[in-house]
Amino acid sequence: MDASLAHDESAQNGDAPDQSSDLWPKWPSFDSKTEHLLLEALRSRRWTVSGAYTGSPSFEQQFAQSFAQYIGVPHCIPTCHGSSALAIALEALDIGYGDEVIVPGLTWVACASAVSALGAVPVLVDVDPYTLCLSPQAAEAAITERTKAIMAVHLFGSCADVEALTAISKRNAVPLIEDCSQAHGGMWDGQKLGSFGTISAFSLQQTKLLTSGEGGVALTRDPALADKLQQLRADGRRYVAQPRIGHLDLEEVGAVQGRNYCLSEFHAALALDGLERLDDQNQRRRAFVEQLRVDLETLDGVGIQGQPDKLSHPVYYHLCLRFDPTKFKNFDIDVMARSLAEKLSLPAIDPVDTPLNRNLLFNPLHSSRTPPDLKPKMTPGAYPLPHAEQARQTCLTIPHNALLADLKHTTTIINAIKASATEMARAS
Ligand SMILES: *Cc1c(COP(=O)(O)O)cnc(C)c1O
Repeated sequence: MDASLAHDESAQNGDAPDQSSDLWPKWPSFDSKTEHLLLEALRSRRWTVSGAYTGSPSFEQQFAQSFAQYIGVPHCIPTCHGSSALAIALEALDIGYGDEVIVPGLTWVACASAVSALGAVPVLVDVDPYTLCLSPQAAEAAITERTKAIMAVHLFGSCADVEALTAISKRNAVPLIEDCSQAHGGMWDGQKLGSFGTISAFSLQQTKLLTSGEGGVALTRDPALADKLQQLRADGRRYVAQPRIGHLDLEEVGAVQGRNYCLSEFHAALALDGLERLDDQNQRRRAFVEQLRVDLETLDGVGIQGQPDKLSHPVYYHLCLRFDPTKFKNFDIDVMARSLAEKLSLPAIDPVDTPLNRNLLFNPLHSSRTPPDLKPKMTPGAYPLPHAEQARQTCLTIPHNALLADLKHTTTIINAIKASATEMARAS
């Protein structure tokens, strides 16, 4: 091993808090096995899916198989980003010009921009005020004859009502895309999130619960969709049944117009490695949040994002705290978030995403991909989102690395909220 790696002590405790300075464990986490896998990818000289077969399955295939098994869905197609997983999901469902896709109004911009990039219309639909995830009733009410998919997002530390949404999907013959980019490992009634949608998508971006830095995953039970997804992500190619050493193990098919969205072998090695830690980390975060839930009972006016009863195993990408402004003097969510970020040395504490009908990052009217005749329907402000807006005014999120801390630090968070509230009350 290189001296530079051998001397990096963080390799031995990438998952442990740095006792000297930081209260909160660092993210992303890794250990010496992670380094070993990266070196293995390096030395194999197969750095990508479209490199020659070396005699053993690519890291991409190994990860795809492990993740498919983990979620309980037969087909898994890794991609270079969560955004590209959404892109190929939409393309596999033949979504294009003028089609409508229902997208929750409170989520990361990629959910809507993946749709608008195809010349399709993201129909922004409001969230349920309790879970902050797509409201099934509002989604069904927004279905028209042009609706080609419903995209549900499991947000922060909760999930959309997948039972109601799969029923709506069946009743209206509209496929369900399940975006699980914030819910790796979560379970509804004992069944993994990501196994309910016609196609599900995950991001493996650096901040996510399972990460390769950049990366994504598309999953499906449908073998025909899986074949399209494979080709869509590798310029129309798919894995061969009988690979030969020294040759590509991809065959040219071209049944659809693919592009290159492949996850590199280094990224796939990181994802494969992280998957081994995921359940344990999720369990630790759950224990932290359960302790915090108890502590919060002493604090009037602060609660946790609502969860459906059937969310049997919640996972926490962010811990989303909801404030009742009537219980505080001079309440302002931006001031509260800034104050907590500073007091806790967690710069990533923020109010929730700005609703997509007024989000700076969602700007389809300034895109060469937006068909001019669709501009009225592509105008984000045309979609009212009162519950998403209320969440923006009352909720903030704490990043998941903080939830890996020692349980005693729930008190640190409670004390910081109390101190911030006192300061806020004094301000005029
Ligand atoms: C992170 C995220 C994405 C985008 O994933 P990238 O890997 O950053 O492209 C999509 N949807 C949701 C809900 C996300 O949180």
